[in-house]
Amino acid sequence: MSEILVTRSSMPSYEEYCREIKELWDTHWLTNMGPKHEQLETELEEYLGIEHVMLYTNGHLALENAIAALNLPRGGEVITTPFTFASTTHAIVRNGLVPVFCDIKSDDYTIDPKMIEELITDNTVAILPVHVYGHMCDVEAIDVIAKKYGLKVIYDAAHAFGVKYKGISSACFGEASMFSFHATKVFNTIEGGCVCFTNPEWEVLLYNMKNFGIQGPESVEYIGGNAKMSEFQAAMGICNLRHIDEELAKRKLVVDRYRERLSGIDGIRISLDQKDIEPNYAYFPVVFDGYKYTRNEVFERLAKQGIGARKYFFPLTNSFDCYRNYPTAGEEKTPIAQYIALRVLTLPLYADLSLDDVDVICDVILN
Ligand SMILES: *Cc1c(COP(=O)(O)O)cnc(C)c1O
Repeated sequence: MSEILVTRSSMPSYEEYCREIKELWDTHWLTNMGPKHEQLETELEEYLGIEHVMLYTNGHLALENAIAALNLPRGGEVITTPFTFASTTHAIVRNGLVPVFCDIKSDDYTIDPKMIEELITDNTVAILPVHVYGHMCDVEAIDVIAKKYGLKVIYDAAHAFGVKYKGISSACFGEASMFSFHATKVFNTIEGGCVCFTNPEWEVLLYNMKNFGIQGPESVEYIGGNAKMSEFQAAMGICNLRHIDEELAKRKLVVDRYRERLSGIDGIRISLDQKDIEPNYAYFPVVFDGYKYTRNEVFERLAKQGIGARKYFFPLTNSFDCYRNYPTAGEEKTPIAQYIALRVLTLPLYADLSLDDVDVICDVILN
């Protein structure tokens, strides 16, 4: 049997991409906010239903810049989740801020708003929640807390491309939301990402940050870095965005089959659609809790058959070696996240995964 990887990047046909990049050989305009970049930005503003999209060469730098745009006092505390990819916590720390880890909800694995308030101190400046697996955070409760204490909110929406809550796009909550367009994400530009925001002043600020603060040939007004998306990345995005609806529909079929095969089984917990949410089927997390095999045993059994599953997220970011000496670190401080991280596995999921392969994967798990 051939290998099944945990994910497989969506690509347009070779011919479609070639058509999209052909004019680059006429213009020789390869980067620096060329026509492809501008087109993708406009198309994403429409698709994501938000006034402002700023494209980036990757999601991580988009997040770092979005946090920097808040201009928070150095050493300020940011309440966040440890149940996420390294990028989220690193982006806080690389901005000179202190991550304070809040535990997660046991049903959808997003930050638990009920526990945010007790972590707030005089030094708290912001909240950085993650729409993990595309499950949306309790944006309403988080908004109430943020207003009550005067805190800024930035969402790591890397997993939540195309997700809607009560018909409102996931791009529209907090001061800003970051999306990742990495090859492994639901929508990709090879590497890439964006910040979505509503404050028009951020347009110049974020532009300066991603393009050396250069505003004109003889005018450098800000000490910025470089995080621009190239024309080749933007062209990939334009192609992939054309097919996003069919991609999501195909992902739904895969998820439906997993749910059909794995629901109602003792010791196996799967995620169902959240209330009032239009999902994007980004991941299929399964929690093995009291099942006949442990998570690690299931992982090994799948690996033996050439099936890649992922311990996502394990370890928690608050137990990373690089944060060992941080006073706020320690996975024991977030026991629910610790519990889930030891038991969760995300199963292979991508648009072109065949239902026969889903059955093979489920057979190995259920034996
Ligand atoms: C992928 C991801 C990022 C980083 O995005 P890149 O585009 O890979 O830089 C940040 N946060 C989360 C939760 C992610 O999954």
